[in-house]
This record gives sequence, C-alpha cells and structure tokens, in this order.
Amino acid sequence: MDYREVEGTREFVARLAHGEDWRAQIEDFARAEGIDAAFFVGLGAVQDADLLYYDQTDQEYYPMEFDEPLEVAACIGNVSLLDGEPFAHTHAVLSRADGSTVAGHLDAGTVFAGELYVRAFEQSLERAHDEPTDLDLWPL
Ligand code: ZN
Repeated sequence: MDYREVEGTREFVARLAHGEDWRAQIEDFARAEGIDAAFFVGLGAVQDADLLYYDQTDQEYYPMEFDEPLEVAACIGNVSLLDGEPFAHTHAVLSRADGSTVAGHLDAGTVFAGELYVRAFEQSLERAHDEPTDLDLWPL
C-alpha cells in the first residue's frame, strides 16, 4: 500500500441541481473552487443512470444503462486530476421501489435530487496509468 498524508480545512455541503448530470456537477464545482483533491459522500435520487463495471480479466469497462427512477441509497467518491482536469471518481448503490439495488461506477445520471458533503484537500492528486490494472490510479 502506498500512501501520503493530506491536509484539508475546506468542507462543503451542496445540493445538486434537478435535471443536470450528477458527476458533471461535481466536476464543475471542483473546477470552480480550484479543488484538485477531495473525498465526497452523497445521497438522493436520479431519473436514470449509466453505470460501468470494470472487468478485471478483460481490463475493460462494461456499461449498464438504467432508464428508470432510482434512489441514490449511497454514493461515495473522490476528486483528483485526470489529464489535468478534475475527475470525480464516483461509485453508487442505487435502489428501486422494491428495495432491490444496482451498483457500480457511476458514469452519469440525471439528478432528481441530491445532497453532497465534500472534504477538499490542500494537496493535488493526479491520476496516472497503472500497469497491472490498466487503470488510472494515484501514484502516491
Ligand atoms: Zn470506479
């Protein structure tokens, strides 16, 4: 395990805008506030969702599209730089009316309502290609 100590005093609460994209709003917020590194948690609901599943054998993301209203039962993610721009790495557990869930890497979702808590760090984190996983990870 690689690690680095970070410091942060900036905390935010946010209400995501109805009808706009869940992840893009987080990235726009990070860009506007000059945030290069953060962790966040969130909850709410989306009108649809594009999830990705990373197949460890194929080393490919496979998409799953859900065109239905879903609760964002839990969302957790972080912000770091990817190709010099803030990227919100976002995971979510989404639930249906019967309580069943779908989950994964949230690429996009149209917000019905959403609330976030964000803790920003002073240090920058920049993603770089990682050979064994073929993912863009933190070179700590
Ligand atoms: Zn992911």
